[in-house]
Amino acid sequence: MLETDNLLPLSGIQHFLFCRRQWALIEIERVWQDNFLTIEGTQLHQKVDDPFFTEVRSGVITARSVPIRSSALGLIGVCDLVEFTPSPNGIYLPGRSVAYTPMIVEYKRGQPKKGAFDEAQLCAQAMCLEEMLSTTIVSSCLYYGEIRRRESISFTQELRSLVQQASLEMHQYFKRQYIPKVKPHQGCSACSINSVCLPKIQGNNRKVSDFITSCLSMGDE
Ligand code: SF4
Repeated sequence: MLETDNLLPLSGIQHFLFCRRQWALIEIERVWQDNFLTIEGTQLHQKVDDPFFTEVRSGVITARSVPIRSSALGLIGVCDLVEFTPSPNGIYLPGRSVAYTPMIVEYKRGQPKKGAFDEAQLCAQAMCLEEMLSTTIVSSCLYYGEIRRRESISFTQELRSLVQQASLEMHQYFKRQYIPKVKPHQGCSACSINSVCLPKIQGNNRKVSDFITSCLSMGDE
């Protein structure tokens, strides 16, 4: 069980698994730069996110921008969309007389990627909802804007362990305020903070703020 007064953004788990340095620069050093990929992703979410929207169609309740959190993982975030389908084995929601099974839909730009980044984020959301609703969610969906299709993701024990391990490491990094060294890889070309990652300081593990300070002081000489 992690300290609940130090919840980290759940969305960071995809950054952490993609590149630990990217996650640390965003969450610890507060560095962020939009590129066309992040802007497109934000626009897609804006179409989905409506915190006051709930509708019922054919008995299925759809809720958008559902706040979630987990004390066990130490994460806090928002589900784009949660569908509650009537099911005798489900859970009871306030003011409803039938039981429902929840299923999350997370919206992503592009198409399915190599690596389990999106899957882990979705699984982390499910683990938060499970804790909040005292239920088990066996699968949910990722919707990709480019292929305009839902992909069903099963929450295997392997995926759940990946989420638990990543959450634990994120808290350890955050507690130490640890910024990993640069390790260039294929994903760097699409990285939104490529221009501030400063690969030139690879190997000496300096903080970006220290590097900028030293550059500014050189200008004074
Ligand atoms: S440029 Fe590469 S090493 Fe640097 S933060 Fe981005 S993905 Fe990580």
